[in-house]
Amino acid sequence: MVTIVIDGKDYVVEEGHSLLKVLRSNGKNIPSLCYHPALKTPIGACKLCAVEIRVKDKPSKVALSCAVKTGEGLQVETATAAVSMARSKAIQQLLAFAPQSGTLLKLADSYGVETSFQPDGCIRCLLCERVCREIVGANALKTVKREGRKFIVPVEGACIGCGTCANICPTQAIRIEDKETVRTISIRDEIIGIHPLERCEGCGKRFATPKFLEYIHHRTLHHPDVKEHHQYCPSCAKLFFKGKQPMPSI
Ligand code: SF4
Repeated sequence: MVTIVIDGKDYVVEEGHSLLKVLRSNGKNIPSLCYHPALKTPIGACKLCAVEIRVKDKPSKVALSCAVKTGEGLQVETATAAVSMARSKAIQQLLAFAPQSGTLLKLADSYGVETSFQPDGCIRCLLCERVCREIVGANALKTVKREGRKFIVPVEGACIGCGTCANICPTQAIRIEDKETVRTISIRDEIIGIHPLERCEGCGKRFATPKFLEYIHHRTLHHPDVKEHHQYCPSCAKLFFKGKQPMPSI
């Protein structure tokens, strides 16, 4: 027999026994789905029976209690933040395989794991946020956490309406809509920016927002060629560079 400590209390138990079995026989409620007492070797597939253990002076660690054997001086914590985090993560992973499972939904509920993901088209790749910060330099998008999930949201008033985020988004979760004189950029039902559209000085087509043109103007101070042509849409600017006249204004 050996003495182990469970949640700060001493227990005299048989040596070399499954910790999971010992915990349960001493009234601890440890979840598991892949453990069966009739089967010899536990495989720790569901990872739900996580507990925090410490052996002698070694630092504590999260371990699967089905795979731990009892031994002298073993210290076990069954309800720490680390334990809860490990079990929540396991529940999330299991839910990905069996989202309709009543057993899992019940477990998720007791560990506060969100189960009702509303797909919103965004895969959280953060390309939009990164391109807006690293390439455009407008910092108009940020990530926030809402009820445990990450969301891309606009930074109020920061969007210049360039449309780079919508163009780079691999799932078209960010939309850019040019309607007559107005450009609207949005994600889900949130508006990132609404901008008037300026006319191209060459062909008269509406093509860019004043904020974007102003931004280019300041960012290209040292490039007079680009600066000269930024009031032209890309097609007219190309013609200019080739020495031709742009299309007449409409
Ligand atoms: S459209 Fe607005 S949010 Fe999107 S990249 Fe340009 S500045 Fe950033």
